[in-house]
Amino acid sequence: MQVLDRAGTGVSMSPSKAKRHHTSLDRLFRYAELLNYGDVHIKFDPATGLRAIVAINNLKRGPAIGGCRVIHYRSADDALEDALRLAYMMSYKAAINNLNHGGAKAVLMMPKVIKNREAYFEAFGNFVDELGGRYITAMDSGTSTSDMDIIARRTPYVTCTTGSGSGGDPSPHTAFGVYRALESAVKFKLGRDDLEGLHVAIQGVGHVGYFLAKALHEAGAKLTVCDVNEKSLQRCVEEFGAAVVAPDSIYDIEADVFSPCALGAILNLTNIKRLKVSAVVGSANNQLAHHHYGAALHERGILYAPDFLVNAGGLIQVAVIYDHADEKKAHEQIGNIYHTAMTIFETSKAENRATSEIAESMAVKLLR
Ligand code: NAD
Repeated sequence: MQVLDRAGTGVSMSPSKAKRHHTSLDRLFRYAELLNYGDVHIKFDPATGLRAIVAINNLKRGPAIGGCRVIHYRSADDALEDALRLAYMMSYKAAINNLNHGGAKAVLMMPKVIKNREAYFEAFGNFVDELGGRYITAMDSGTSTSDMDIIARRTPYVTCTTGSGSGGDPSPHTAFGVYRALESAVKFKLGRDDLEGLHVAIQGVGHVGYFLAKALHEAGAKLTVCDVNEKSLQRCVEEFGAAVVAPDSIYDIEADVFSPCALGAILNLTNIKRLKVSAVVGSANNQLAHHHYGAALHERGILYAPDFLVNAGGLIQVAVIYDHADEKKAHEQIGNIYHTAMTIFETSKAENRATSEIAESMAVKLLR
């Protein structure tokens, strides 16, 4: 198992040394300490096949919130590591976006078959309830609104239920946050208030990328897109007149903004050198292949809008709906990503430091 650093990108440990002195649990403890945990809870329910981990990273700002994912993991180590990494990022997202919540994540190791989905999620609901409100669960990969409804039979600490107002798909809210960050970057870097004629290169036009492309098209922007899915591309060509390039060519496109909305770790030193844009603003998690690479973008004069600020629209939506049941307030708070991004850009300029560093220090301060 690999131990990850703060950015989730990998800290190498001598394997032989690790083998002699450390069990995988020792390394996970070290990782948890590095990320300032927090508590981690584990529940087994042989009757339903539930194997659940709830990682609560930080409670300083309020009850911890984060999605519940149900996916296959190769090992319990992998599942635990994923929970720790994801909950940590949720703390950053919540803090920098001024939510009165800490970060958490539930990871359920998917059994070969979930024999009785109702019993499975009821058992998970009991687990969440036992945590007494320290953790609020939500939808994530492998869960749906109806799963949240089942959980709600056993605990009030759940959102994304039918009728909760937060809806099933967070992508339009996430895309709105990306759009606001992009407007902020364009204002800061290019001194423009509108997006008419702006050229945006989008990597990945799936859920978030599609809604972003739609909003940009409506604002008069010109789009170049790439994806590995033909249908997704076709939709953007037909609906928005987007130009299409091969996935690997997207880094070479001369545009105003590059918007990574597909994969993490795509901003490595090679790709950063290839970019011919003024700003990078996208939804993908962990875009920087190493968190020091924010400095490489800064040195090249490319404005980087930090991912954990930019892609928090979905989280803001579920948190505000859980706390206030107010769609308008949620929308306004997602819109505020514009202003937080602007503060980060201005501080970066004043202090001549990478935006990623500024955003990280802001989040860390807010979590103390
Ligand atoms: P998605 O799976 O719907 O879309 C991703 C798209 O990227 C797909 O169309 C896929 O075919 C495409 N893709 C995959 N490999 C590619 C490649 N090599 N080159 C180009 N395209 C490629 O996912 P999504 O929900 O739209 O999320 C996009 C990104 O934003 C992910 O990194 C996700 O973790 C992050 N994110 C999403 C949300 C959300 O609300 N959905 C919230 C926060 C962060």
